[in-house]
Amino acid sequence: MKLAERLSRISEPQTIKMAKLSRELKAQGIDIVDLSIGEPDFDTPDHIRTAAKKAIDDGFTHYTPVAGIAELKKAVAQKFKRDNNLDYTPEQIVVSTGAKQCLANAVLSIVDPGDEVIIPTPYWVTYSELVKLCQGEVVFVPCSLENQYKITPEQLEAAITPKTKLFMFSSPCNPTGSIYSKEELKALADVFEKHPEIFIISDEIYEYINYVGEHESIAQFGTLKDRTIIINGLSKGFAMTGWRLGFLAAPLEIAKACDKIQSQFTSATSSITQHAAVAALLNDKATATAMVEEFKKRRTFIHNALSEIPGLVLNNPDGAFYMFPDISAYFGKSFEGETIHNADDLCAYLLHKAHVTTVTGSAFQQPNCIRMSYATSMDKLEEAAKRLKEWLAKLQ
Ligand code: PMP
Repeated sequence: MKLAERLSRISEPQTIKMAKLSRELKAQGIDIVDLSIGEPDFDTPDHIRTAAKKAIDDGFTHYTPVAGIAELKKAVAQKFKRDNNLDYTPEQIVVSTGAKQCLANAVLSIVDPGDEVIIPTPYWVTYSELVKLCQGEVVFVPCSLENQYKITPEQLEAAITPKTKLFMFSSPCNPTGSIYSKEELKALADVFEKHPEIFIISDEIYEYINYVGEHESIAQFGTLKDRTIIINGLSKGFAMTGWRLGFLAAPLEIAKACDKIQSQFTSATSSITQHAAVAALLNDKATATAMVEEFKKRRTFIHNALSEIPGLVLNNPDGAFYMFPDISAYFGKSFEGETIHNADDLCAYLLHKAHVTTVTGSAFQQPNCIRMSYATSMDKLEEAAKRLKEWLAKLQ
């Protein structure tokens, strides 16, 4: 069967692959502790579920405008004003089937074949694959643990060429949990001011899952709002991963381009989800705050537990819900004839021996690390920590 060449350019996300494997092993009756998947384990709050049920009963079951219902776009614009002090008109907002589709819309709107796209690594798996779908050139910039895996202005400046079209990053970051401070964003913004032709995609889906202070967006600096696309959504902050709703805010021309692309792919996301989203956004951060308190406790627990395991080098995850330890001290070690050569091997070892699912750092372009999501119950985290300690100690 001869399928399109573009399929050979992209791969299935390791995150999704590991979650699938985890489900398969669980179905075989194996007691797996799954730290692979990036989704809150909480139920969607009641008032949001009630709004969805009401939408069904009120007959909001038809197609809506492609970029979202007016009420929702207004609520999103209000959210940007309230939380980020950024002014957008409803026409600058596009609502999509998850933040993932927002990213796809934006990349498809901006990147032509041969365009260079700078992505600091470690990064979220989907960015590079979207660029490759557009036949763009991915320019990875490896960032160091010393700088909490954040790109420096010097690294950014050095990566820019006349072909650079776009810069993509997330803060809070998946997979590292790092958050760019106001000063760090300002320093990057100063570099971009010298290169007015570069677009920026700022993925802020973890905005509310922040343990250190106010969320800052790069769009707040200088003239950057005129070429920044902010990606956000309800999946993480409101425990609504399955509802499929993301939104972006962009300069009008880009918002219109995203609307046009979406009109040929999926049209609008679910009418019911959109009504539920209005209820979520108007109730501001209250829902998220309770969850963040719980994540904070789990983060403290897992951070302490992992820091007791020899050989793990930990970063400081200030946001999101991932630990991203450097595990390279285990490379070359063995258990019963099985040698760990890299992070992929260690993930496989932890899955098959400890029955703990993690994701290899190579998926995020940081082959010395593995990612563990702590968006799971405290009981499961305690069990995971126990098993990790036991099985890592067996590697000699
Ligand atoms: N961006 C990042 C950084 C993510 O981690 C995720 C989800 N894992 C998304 C975007 C996509 O979110 P959604 O579920 O809204 O499509």
